Amino acid sequence: MTVNPSGWRPTTPANEQGSAGTVTGNRALQLEEPLLFERGRLDQTGVDLPDTKVSGGRLGGLERNRDIGLPGLSEPEAVRHYTRLSRQNYAIDLGLFPLGSCTMKHNPRLNEKVARMPGFADVHPMQPQETVQGALQVINELAFWLLDLTGMHGVAMSPKAGAHGELCGLLCIRAALEARGDKREVVLVPESAHGTNPATAAFAGYRVESIPANKAGRVDLEALKARLGPDVAAVMITNPNTCGLFEPDMIAISDAVHAAGAFVYCDGANFNAIVGKVRPGDLGIDAMHINLHKTFSTPHGGGGPGSGPVVVSEALAPYGPLPFAAKMPDGTYKLVEEESAAEMHPESFGRMTAFHGQMGMFTRALAYILSHGADGLRQVAEDSVLNANYVLRSLEDVLDAPFAKSGPCMHEAIFSDRGFGEGLSTIDLAKALIDEGFHPMTMYFPLVVHGAMLIEPTETESKAALDQFIAAMRSIAERAKSGDQSLKAAPIYAPRRRLDETLAARKPVLVYREPAQAEAAE
Ligand SMILES: *Cc1c(COP(=O)(O)O)cnc(C)c1O
Repeated sequence: MTVNPSGWRPTTPANEQGSAGTVTGNRALQLEEPLLFERGRLDQTGVDLPDTKVSGGRLGGLERNRDIGLPGLSEPEAVRHYTRLSRQNYAIDLGLFPLGSCTMKHNPRLNEKVARMPGFADVHPMQPQETVQGALQVINELAFWLLDLTGMHGVAMSPKAGAHGELCGLLCIRAALEARGDKREVVLVPESAHGTNPATAAFAGYRVESIPANKAGRVDLEALKARLGPDVAAVMITNPNTCGLFEPDMIAISDAVHAAGAFVYCDGANFNAIVGKVRPGDLGIDAMHINLHKTFSTPHGGGGPGSGPVVVSEALAPYGPLPFAAKMPDGTYKLVEEESAAEMHPESFGRMTAFHGQMGMFTRALAYILSHGADGLRQVAEDSVLNANYVLRSLEDVLDAPFAKSGPCMHEAIFSDRGFGEGLSTIDLAKALIDEGFHPMTMYFPLVVHGAMLIEPTETESKAALDQFIAAMRSIAERAKSGDQSLKAAPIYAPRRRLDETLAARKPVLVYREPAQAEAAE
């Protein structure tokens, strides 16, 4: 790509839709924007600071001796740059976000208002506990809601995301096994599992073995039973699973796992589908993380914070991490940390995080829970399942739906790319979906379905929104089946066309170099 003298990159193809292109490269509200490094000048600055009176000597000779090389821009230039970039982002506040396994639902503004209250937003983790009683009460009350909703015995609030919660759960399991002098080395994970499950098991020091799925997309119970033995520490199961299907054999699975002396870890990322309907504790589960940022709203994606409390069974509760918020007999709240652990939680495996977890996520989740109430939470599950089945049944005649015959799905519908024309795959459909103004669904995951398209509309989409999405999907699916090679060119209306995402992931360019330098480096 050439950079023209002003730094602007005209990218509008002149022949597209018969237009003449634009001089600026802009397309109405879609404004082209060079990199800050291409625009800014090293010899100018947007701020005017007095010379500093502090002289060197305090950094032990490590002070910078060259220019920092950051581009100088005025404030409006910097503001425009980031505002323009932000307008090229897809967002849940813009439209339907069908990413399966992610539960991208509307985030009520009430949550945000509550989370920004100074008593929650401005507390410091090292403040004296008597000055943060309200914050501790929020953590404690949310903990009791999570216990009620899951029918479990204890909960660790501090893990900071789903994967961190998985680690917490496996560390509880390891501590319980060690306490009974039992050395076990293997964790069994179904083929359809989210990548974090085997990664967590490996990180916790276990060897991972996979359990096959049966034709109906569920865990093959007989294969699991055959593999259980004295070397198996735990089985990690997602329910509803990553094919959007409920594991109906869950109690039989738990019984078999327990009979073999192992523990059942449940990946609870899909709790949205069953909240208020099913209590995981009734299914024999020993530990399960809850992604507060999925089931209980709170913005996520794009690197936003998560929170992954872990609920545990009676067998694992003694080993849970520190700290935790406890209500004392005198009605005050206390953060139980190392100094009181010997008395209050002696068998804890230790600490997961420096402090007590994600306060902002706790307040958002509790606001969400209280504003829905128990009946509203049950309706969340019902509506999310209804919406996913509406999508499934509206598309199954144009897209291969491998499990549709075995009954309804849960909160997400899965399709494959079977029947697409020569050379076309899921990626081509997804790129065309961008042109229709939708964020693509989760693609090529789970691996058990060829060219998987995993669609989770969530309960917050209206029928009108789903109908529009379905209409777009139907049209693109028909093009894909007829072998329409123009799909290979999609997206054509996006600010950038088809990018080499693999190259971007494998060889990210994180440091700006002048074009001449960059060429020389190649
Ligand atoms: C999102 C997700 C995870 C991981 O949760 P994070 O909060 O992203 O760490 C694990 N398992 C499943 C099934 C998920 O959907």
